Amino acid sequence: MQRKKLVIIGNGMVGHHFVETLVQSPAAQSFDITVFGEEPRPAYDRVHLTSWFETRNPEALSLASLDFYRTHGIDLHLGDKAISIDRTHKIVRSEKGIEVAYDILVLATGSYPFVPPIPGHNQEYCFVYRTIEDLEAITQAAGESRIGTVVGGGLLGLEAAKALQDLGLETHVVEFAPRLMAVQLDEDGGAMLQRKIEALGVGIHTGKNTRNITPGKFQRLKMEFTDGDALETDLIVFSAGIRPRDELARQTGLEVGDRGGIVIDDQCRTSDPDIFAIGECALWHGQIFGLVAPGYQMARVVADLLSGREAAFTGADLSTKLKLMGVEVGTIGDSHGRTPGAHSYVYKNEADEVYKRLIVSQDNHKLLGAVLVGDSSTYDTLLQYYQNGIDLPQPPDALILPNTEAAPTGLGPDALPESATLCSCHNVTKGQVVELIDQGVAALADIKAETKASTGCGGCAGLLKSVVDAELARRGIEVNKDLCEHFPYSRQELYHIIRVEQIRTFDELLEKHGKGLGCDICKPAVASILASYWNDYVLSDKYFKLQDTNDYRLANLQKDGTYSVVPRIPGGEITPEKLIVLGEVARKYKLYTKITGGQRIDLFGARLEQLPHIWQELIDAGFESGHAYAKAVRTVKSCVGSTWCRYGVQDSVGMAIFLENRYKGIRAPHKIKMAVSGCTRECAEAQCKDIGVIATEKGWNLYLCGNGGMKPRHADLFATDLDDETLVRIIDRFLAFYIRTADRLQRTAAWMENLEGGLDYLRAVIVDNKLGICAELERQIQHLVETYECEWKKTLENEEILKKRFRFFVNAEGSDDNVVFIEERGQIRPATLEEKRRIKGIPIELEKAS
Ligand SMILES: Cc1cc2nc3c(=O)[nH]c(=O)nc-3n(C[C@H](O)[C@H](O)[C@H](O)COP(=O)(O)OP(=O)(O)OC[C@H]3O[C@@H](n4cnc5c(N)ncnc54)[C@H](O)[C@@H]3O)c2cc1C
Ligand code: SF4
Repeated sequence: MQRKKLVIIGNGMVGHHFVETLVQSPAAQSFDITVFGEEPRPAYDRVHLTSWFETRNPEALSLASLDFYRTHGIDLHLGDKAISIDRTHKIVRSEKGIEVAYDILVLATGSYPFVPPIPGHNQEYCFVYRTIEDLEAITQAAGESRIGTVVGGGLLGLEAAKALQDLGLETHVVEFAPRLMAVQLDEDGGAMLQRKIEALGVGIHTGKNTRNITPGKFQRLKMEFTDGDALETDLIVFSAGIRPRDELARQTGLEVGDRGGIVIDDQCRTSDPDIFAIGECALWHGQIFGLVAPGYQMARVVADLLSGREAAFTGADLSTKLKLMGVEVGTIGDSHGRTPGAHSYVYKNEADEVYKRLIVSQDNHKLLGAVLVGDSSTYDTLLQYYQNGIDLPQPPDALILPNTEAAPTGLGPDALPESATLCSCHNVTKGQVVELIDQGVAALADIKAETKASTGCGGCAGLLKSVVDAELARRGIEVNKDLCEHFPYSRQELYHIIRVEQIRTFDELLEKHGKGLGCDICKPAVASILASYWNDYVLSDKYFKLQDTNDYRLANLQKDGTYSVVPRIPGGEITPEKLIVLGEVARKYKLYTKITGGQRIDLFGARLEQLPHIWQELIDAGFESGHAYAKAVRTVKSCVGSTWCRYGVQDSVGMAIFLENRYKGIRAPHKIKMAVSGCTRECAEAQCKDIGVIATEKGWNLYLCGNGGMKPRHADLFATDLDDETLVRIIDRFLAFYIRTADRLQRTAAWMENLEGGLDYLRAVIVDNKLGICAELERQIQHLVETYECEWKKTLENEEILKKRFRFFVNAEGSDDNVVFIEERGQIRPATLEEKRRIKGIPIELEKAS
């Protein structure tokens, strides 16, 4: 079959989503695809553009790799703008002179920031806020400025204002309308938001029409307003709305709207049937959608059509929930109450600065819209009422009044119809989730992976989890968190019991709260909890039987029955003397040596009876156990940081050593890895660790819950510019809270994925002390720090344990003669079965016969 030519102009969020969807569809085989992108890099996450300031690393925002395009055979032209479309010959021409023929053309050119034509608007130090390059330029200018002003008090304007404030500038917002967020908020809501943002130190100037920008007397620029007022500033960021990028469409004679935008029908077709338009450049029924979710929907519609399926774009809900400069804001549907017959319920609490308004239908039964400022906790529930046309409780104001007995606080997941959208970023309905569960996909993490639900803005995480739990419960699949048949409690509950009742042994716990004798699941799990809580010696008589193989031997069992020896090398820093000791020990005991990703040196091939001798020599030289055998805090990797590196802004090695020494050996539900980078270049790869620390000019940024491994997860930025003391305090709390609440063998990443309320909840608990437990969490870690002992040192002092646990034959000296090594690249490695047989003179044929 002759493949058709598909050309896509624009490699932004929507253009890329279209490509991603298309290559997974049947249409992928039917097209040769060419993409033009004007920007110098592949698509990135513009929605989270502001987070660029946290890392200053464009890669962190990337949505697509060049590899992705290469692998799928897509011709991607970056930094090359399409400059004309010849519809007669069906050819697209680019700025760099490339000509590509098309059968189907998709325009995904997005929009540009509108800059009001104020005289002086295009001089130096005037910026917009749309691309990574814009942010780079703003950052550079901020370095030479004291005051920054944003023109535009809408969503994006306030986001830009936050960025300026974070860059250390005195910040002002100038808004033409009489209130902030005039499109979404009513008068009272806007006023409440203004008070809150002013309280954060931002100057808000509403109802201001700028008529001129001239050189300033005190600052670089002067903004003159039509009412005679003026504001001096050093830089200006325009964020006064967007305009669709329809220039190519106009030039080639496609129909465009009176106020711009490429006119499309329900199939996203333009006035030329072979040309589609999607995303912010498209005008559907007179509407431009300035959000990403509708653009993604359009992309899916066109991918479906090209695959021969029927599809239509039917509009999109523009309800939004967000945090603006730390202030919660939510708007739903007709937030201005313009629907004929609509009436409102208002709750206004000036003391706590909370404003909530419901707009309901004339008959009082349906929710038409809502405005929430200062507290958006009811947003998810209200959105479900609105989107699914669910009858309101009577009286409806119970939904916004502070909790009273009568007030229904949430809408149970069972009340949602299958058509209910749970995740609007990825357009996932309850029906899709139900279908997956019917197919046997029961784990929340798997449902997220299949549908991408709650991986966009993450706002639906709580709702998704409650739907999954309710559906599992409805099928009789109990969301059973019991540790095992011996304990009818989850790990978290057992931790709580041990803490409250001060239980110190497995036997006592079993007697009081369990049954039977215990098993391979509950014994190590309880041993781990007891160790995390009491920090008693794990090989003492009361504990050693509970430990799994590695903890029992204080070493990792390898495939050939030998063990590895992993001494701690805090922060990866090691003296030449210690390096020599490692080399000498390795040579003496003929061990294989390997430098690990955690920046230490593993010694492999130790026989059980050799372990105490090896460790004695290492401990004599000042080494300690590296706990590589334990579910515990392992390593803190670091780069060389400011001590040696030209770019380093903090002493990452010093911090890593401090952290490693503080948390070494703390037992947890799973292993914990950490890293510290000396600047945002991130050489220590801190963002793929459970706890990642990255230096900033002002202190440290803290990242949590990342991991590499089978299912890599980028850590979430949790807090910024922390001083040393605050950093350590938050890590203390985080560790203690994770240890307390995670399931057995649950790494921090999975724990976070399943944590109801996600990152915000975690922040509420360990930063805002919502549960009032922070002091206790800190005390717990302090106890563990103060009671730390090197387990190998303690073991070497105990003759009896050495005799009992570290010999191959119970009653005799001697070694496992099944251990055979082969020399390779100047070191040993375990022999294969065939090699062993050859060495031992056992005929190979025997192996085949047996
Ligand atoms: C700071 C900020 C915060 C935002 N926050 C949110 C939010 O919280 N929620 C939300 O839903 N949305 C948000 N948005 C809006 C969201 O980013 C957009 O809706 C989304 O990016 C639109 O995608 P798009 O592909 O249509 O346009 P774009 O992402 O702008 O991509 C269009 C691309 O096409 C390129 N292009 C244009 N013309 C040509 C040409 N002739 N040749 C080649 N390439 C061309 C452009 O350079 C651009 O790279 C935010 C936007 C910004 C700037
Ligand atoms: S992260 Fe890289 S660039 Fe930054 S200090 Fe460390 S080594 Fe240097």
